[in-house]
Amino acid sequence: MLYSMDQVALYLNRATLLIKAAGGKISYITGNDATSVSCSGQRAEETQIASFGDAVWIANNDDADSSTQRELLDKLGISSSKELIDHVDNYQGRVLSSHKGAFTPGAMTPEETLLYKMATRSDAESGTSLAVPGTLAPAAKAAANPSFKISGAGPAPTAGIVFVVGSYVGGEGTSEHAEQKLLAALGKTPRAMSAAVTISGCKMACSTCKEVLDKAAARFKSSGGQLRFNNSIVGIWRDEAKLSKKHAKGIRSLDVAHYFGA
Ligand SMILES: [Zn+2]
Repeated sequence: MLYSMDQVALYLNRATLLIKAAGGKISYITGNDATSVSCSGQRAEETQIASFGDAVWIANNDDADSSTQRELLDKLGISSSKELIDHVDNYQGRVLSSHKGAFTPGAMTPEETLLYKMATRSDAESGTSLAVPGTLAPAAKAAANPSFKISGAGPAPTAGIVFVVGSYVGGEGTSEHAEQKLLAALGKTPRAMSAAVTISGCKMACSTCKEVLDKAAARFKSSGGQLRFNNSIVGIWRDEAKLSKKHAKGIRSLDVAHYFGA
């Protein structure tokens, strides 16, 4: 059992980095170079997830990372919340630096340290390492997970895996953050507004996102729903992992009234 959807975000983020380092090959999971997906650059920007009911919505600061992740899940034949959670539960060890051998915790990045902590939470104190899982071949039948464009017609699908992409209406700022992309899609989806929605990710919300998330949470409450973010226990583990909160500058702030009404 996964501890939280933060693990899914960390897994997808780590997988994106490994795929980029391999020039698009998904060898981190297949163990061979036969299958590739599209990717660009070497970095992976933040990955965030909104989950409620059977829906898993995934967004990245960089939409290109969402394309890479969507193609990966399509090739692995993963198209439901349960399949995604089971996959991460079984294969998360393959995105850690250790997947080719024994664990060397000192060499892990903060994101790996956080994922490792969650993956081994029951026995972390005793130093038990995570089993290194075997390889996984692409599925005989690929999936076709949808993308939802923020600027397109709403609402977004409220079941299955959905990649939320595009720009949101908001103030000045040169870059847009994944959690605010998810909020824009939620605001366009009335059914989601009465659900218990959890936003999970690799990093904590920056101050710009937190301000917007707090305002949106009040709208959820008045619609009979609930919006949760920044899990406090995970927050402690993030600090322990030295996954420092970056002070973000130039982040566009979502126009809450535009998406959620005045
Ligand atoms: Zn942010």
